[in-house]
Amino acid sequence: MNTASGNTVKVLLIEDNPIHVGLVKTLLAESKSPVFQLQFAGTLQAGLNQLDAASVDMVLLDLTLPDSEDLDTFIRVRSFAPAIPIVIVTSLDDIKLAAKAVEAGAQDYLVKTQLSRTSLIRSIRYAIERTRVRDAEWDSPMFRLAQRQFLKAAQFMGLDDNIRQRLLFPQRTLVVTLPFRRDHYTEVETVFGYRVQHILTMGPTKGGIRYHQDVSLGEVSALAMWMSWKCALVHLPFGGAKGGVRIDPTGLTSHELQRLTRRFATEISPIIGPEKDIPAPDMGTNERVMAWIMDTYSQEKGYTVPAVVTGKPLVLGGARGRNEATGRGVVYLIQEAAKHLKMNLSECTAVVQGFGNVGSHAALFLSELGVKLIGVSDATTGIYNRHGLSMPSLLEYVAKNRFLEGYPEGDQISNEELLELKCDILVPAALQNQITAENADRIQCKLLAEGANGPTTLEADEVLNEKGVFILPDILANAGGVTVSYFEWVQDTQNYMWTLEEVNQRLKSILKDAFHRTLNRAQKNQFDMRTAAMIEGVERVSQAKLARGLYP
Ligand code: GLU
Repeated sequence: MNTASGNTVKVLLIEDNPIHVGLVKTLLAESKSPVFQLQFAGTLQAGLNQLDAASVDMVLLDLTLPDSEDLDTFIRVRSFAPAIPIVIVTSLDDIKLAAKAVEAGAQDYLVKTQLSRTSLIRSIRYAIERTRVRDAEWDSPMFRLAQRQFLKAAQFMGLDDNIRQRLLFPQRTLVVTLPFRRDHYTEVETVFGYRVQHILTMGPTKGGIRYHQDVSLGEVSALAMWMSWKCALVHLPFGGAKGGVRIDPTGLTSHELQRLTRRFATEISPIIGPEKDIPAPDMGTNERVMAWIMDTYSQEKGYTVPAVVTGKPLVLGGARGRNEATGRGVVYLIQEAAKHLKMNLSECTAVVQGFGNVGSHAALFLSELGVKLIGVSDATTGIYNRHGLSMPSLLEYVAKNRFLEGYPEGDQISNEELLELKCDILVPAALQNQITAENADRIQCKLLAEGANGPTTLEADEVLNEKGVFILPDILANAGGVTVSYFEWVQDTQNYMWTLEEVNQRLKSILKDAFHRTLNRAQKNQFDMRTAAMIEGVERVSQAKLARGLYP
């Protein structure tokens, strides 16, 4: 099952008392974010069998079972599935034993007679998050992908080894834990937040802030590294940065989102600022979140500082066209690629994965060019209509219902099926890690334009290159967002605002230039487009590093 926000937690409850099973079931049933998928086992053996058979995110464990008792129960589950977090559910009499299990590696214990919905859900969430902190920081699949892409480019370009080592990890990272108050006044949540600055050589650092339940230091670091190459590729005077908070924002009220944002802004305020590091929207954040960050920072300074963030509302110094800039950029680049590939766009079909800011705008601008949009998706569903989907009708439906689920003018398909549809242009504009070794040979597009960051693995790249798919890699395809962010920063620092025409025309010429430099490099050296784009970016950063020299 997939929820609207994609946040599902699979819990295995190993417990022989049907009353307690019923209680846990009732407490977890109403939660929407996350949604819990609960499995039960009445004996240790049945529990181990289920752990073996199905993927489970965490275990709720009673230590006293018909076929096992005391610490032994914990140790056997632990040694069977060492990576899975375990929370002990205990009676008041056995609390000492439960505490011993925590010492031995269980994440937490809960007293059965004191269970409440809040205490249970929080304990489960924290258990999973803490395990992720231990296992996933730095060593995340995304960070490994970013490093491997960089190493591949470094190898092709014969990059100086000192610089290679220097660029492989971010220059500065800030990890914070921050509390914020729920609307229920006595409930305070503590969450993890990050701001990572990859390179401080080129000017201030620049990059978005993401709110998502999977955010980790490794993921934010990968995204910061990609921002460095992206900014350098389009010749912006920035190094790369990224920030994030590990939380599902769809489960928060607007008041909670505001308190969380203001506290996070305060926590990172020592390292952000118009000359230091300039945040922007990313997945799960928007112009309203940017307005709160700008206000919090300005309150701390005692005067208004519009240039501390980009992607703000227009009335606070936002740039015209920034909101739709990433999607617009994707389509400008598709137009350039289509010219090169001699594809007539008015005869082409397109599939767009993701209907957030990037996906919906890319779909809109493509359909305005006469491209037939045959598939779109969001976290709830994919929609397919081989006769073409109507953008006004899709936008109206989403404005009313928030998600695409139930949209009547097409067939409902899964996100996996959507990616494999036969089409001319495929735009992954949702999450990372979508096109992998597993599905790459079933991808049927001619042109792949990566609106999302990191949607394609290196293994998939190889398959796609062999199949002759033309790739507009993420650091090029979605660079329109940060380019207009740069325009916004320039406008704010000069107190001089541009027209929408000026913004769009400058955006187009910057992206066209980056596209042709990348294409020339790819053709001259027979690199794939991703490697060529990476080398364009890495080379510029490396030149800047050499020009500045090493201090002291
Ligand atoms: N979050 C966007 C990106 O990944 C934009 C960053 C910015 O505008 O600074 O490129």
